[in-house]
Amino acid sequence: MPDNTLTTQEYTSSYKPTWCPGCGNFGINAAVKNALVGLGIPTHQVVMIFGIGCFGNGSNFYANYVFHGIHGRTLPVASGIKLANHELTVIADAGDGDGYGEGGNHFIHTCRSNIDLTFIVHDNRMYSLTQGQLSPTAPKGFLTKSTPFGSLETPFNPLAVALINGATFVAQGFSSDIPHLTELIKKAISHRGFALLNILQVCVTFNKVNTEQWYKERIYKLETTQHDIKNYGQALTVALKQDDKLPIGVLYQIERPTYEDQLPQIKEQPLIKQKIDNVDISKSLEEYK
Ligand code: SF4
Repeated sequence: MPDNTLTTQEYTSSYKPTWCPGCGNFGINAAVKNALVGLGIPTHQVVMIFGIGCFGNGSNFYANYVFHGIHGRTLPVASGIKLANHELTVIADAGDGDGYGEGGNHFIHTCRSNIDLTFIVHDNRMYSLTQGQLSPTAPKGFLTKSTPFGSLETPFNPLAVALINGATFVAQGFSSDIPHLTELIKKAISHRGFALLNILQVCVTFNKVNTEQWYKERIYKLETTQHDIKNYGQALTVALKQDDKLPIGVLYQIERPTYEDQLPQIKEQPLIKQKIDNVDISKSLEEYK
């Protein structure tokens, strides 16, 4: 039953954000809280798992349950929490370096599993916490402290990777359009299955190329086009299109059984609600003697 009395205040801890003034993390933080309040989910039913990056100290600024883990490992921790208690709303909150670099392998295989998680990725094309090195999503030729002659590598395409590996919800948002982002987060959380929401995020301190104005000149909303979110081919075409236009909105959404739906052990009841008094592990222990 949604709690319609909630306000964002209940989702806000007493710590003040320490991000640079103008950082896109503020917009994402506000949109996540708006979405949770809009869906009426009480704080004790929400767990957010944070990786390493500027976004990561967001774990201090929420009043719901949080876990701040190691670099690139938000998804395995989130998956473990979800399997232990699949009645919780579980959100993995990563950066482009954290989620697609260090955590790239986990990203691919969580798409395949279709476990019911929301994966929010703050994509500012940089490792900003360590002061502005190249991340996997940076375009070819990108100049950073670690690529003074320009990046030599083809950028990682998270939307296409998610689609070809079986993600059932794939979307992209923009950190400066909070109302639009709020709606996308609500859709991602409400989706049953693995939901990727890549968020184009402004880093005012180290990324002087992809500024708010730069994004505003290139972004278009998929819902204002003829885009069909159930059409896999169309979604992949949008994801692969590498021109000067950047789509935001839902690229793809379908329903298929989640990982939890298919696990007989937790199908009827979450693991944490099951009785363990009658479980006999003596045979398993024998093997270690
Ligand atoms: Fe935000 Fe960039 Fe400052 Fe980090 S360095 S807090 S990403 S603006």
